[in-house]
Amino acid sequence: MTLNSKQATVLIVDDEPINISVLAQSLALHYRVKIATSGHKALDIINSAAPPDLVLLDIQMPDIDGYEVLIQMRQHDATKSIPVIFITAKDAAEDEAKGLDLGAMDYITKPFNLPVVNARVRNQLALKQKADLLERLALIDGLTEIPNRRHYDNRLADEWRRSIQEQQEISIIMIDIDEFKVFNDNYGHAQGDMALKQVAGVISNQLRRSSDLAARYGGEEFVVLLPSCKLEAAEAIAEKIRLAVVELQIPNEYSKAQKITVSLGIACIQAKSDFTSVCLQKRADELLYQAKRNGRNQFVAAQIDTNCHLKIEK
Ligand code: GH3
Ligand code: MG
Ligand code: MG
Repeated sequence: MTLNSKQATVLIVDDEPINISVLAQSLALHYRVKIATSGHKALDIINSAAPPDLVLLDIQMPDIDGYEVLIQMRQHDATKSIPVIFITAKDAAEDEAKGLDLGAMDYITKPFNLPVVNARVRNQLALKQKADLLERLALIDGLTEIPNRRHYDNRLADEWRRSIQEQQEISIIMIDIDEFKVFNDNYGHAQGDMALKQVAGVISNQLRRSSDLAARYGGEEFVVLLPSCKLEAAEAIAEKIRLAVVELQIPNEYSKAQKITVSLGIACIQAKSDFTSVCLQKRADELLYQAKRNGRNQFVAAQIDTNCHLKIEK
C-alpha cells in the first residue's frame, strides 16, 4: 500500500468524545480519520478489511484498555506492524515504559499539544512507509521486477498450510530457459538480462487468479505457484507460457530451436500434514529435467501421490 500522507488513515481511539473531536479536526487536515470510543470498537476497525495505517490509542477505557488493544493487535500478522501511539493521562514513567515495552512506537501524555501530536503522527507514518517499501523490495527480484525466491518460499509455506486445511490440490510449474548459456555467449550479458525480463513478463501475464504467483527462482529459472489447481489446469497454463515465450521470437541462433524457448516441469499434489512442500519442489525439478532430456521447448507433468511418488506421467 502506498502511504502518501493524504491517503493515510489514522484511527483515533478515546472514550472521551471531546478528545476525539479536537484530535480529529486537526488530523483530518492531512489524513483520513476514523474514530472509535472503546477498545472493542477499535479492534473491529483494526481487524476490518480496511485497517488504519496508524492508531492513536487512549489507555484508560471502560471495556478493554489500550494496553490490551495493543496486545491483541500484536498477535495477528495483518495488524502487528500497524504503528500505535499511546495518548493518555497516565503520565507515570512506568506506564510509559510498559506501553513502549508492549510495542507502541510513541507515547504522548494528556493534556496534549496539537502540533506535537501532528509531528509525531507524521514521523511514525513516514517510518512506516519506509519500512513497507523495504519489505516490498525484499520480496522483488531486482532485474525482472517479479517476486523473488524468498517471496515464493513464504507464499508456498502459506499455501501449503491452506491447502491442507481446505483439502485442496496445489500445483507448481518449474520453468528453465533453454540453451541460455549460448545466448549469453553470443549476444552478451546485457541482451541476456533483457531476455530474462521479457520471459518473466510473459510468464506473469499468463496468470489470472490473485492467489497465483510467478517468481524468479534463480538464474534463468522461474517458478509458478498455483494454489487450488488440478494437474490439467496447471498443464494448460504451462502450455500457454511455453507458447507465449515462443511468440516472443527472441533469436537464439546457435540453439536447436533458433530462438528462446523454455522447458517446464509440472507437479500437482494433495497437500498432507505428514510431509512438507519440499517433496513437490523436488518432483517438479525432476520433471523439468525430464522435459530437457526429451528435447526442450515442452513440459512434463505428473500427479504426485501422498508418499511423494509420481502417480501419472505424461
Ligand atoms: P539448458 O537448456 O540445459 O537449461 O541449458 P542452459 O545453457 O540454459 O543452462 P546452463 O545452466 O548451462 O546455463 C544457464 C545460463 O544462464 C548461464 C548464465 O550465463 C545464464 N544466466 C543465469 N542468470 C543470468 C542473469 O541474471 N543474467 C544473464 N544475462 N544470464 C544469466
Ligand atoms: Mg537453462
Ligand atoms: Mg538453469
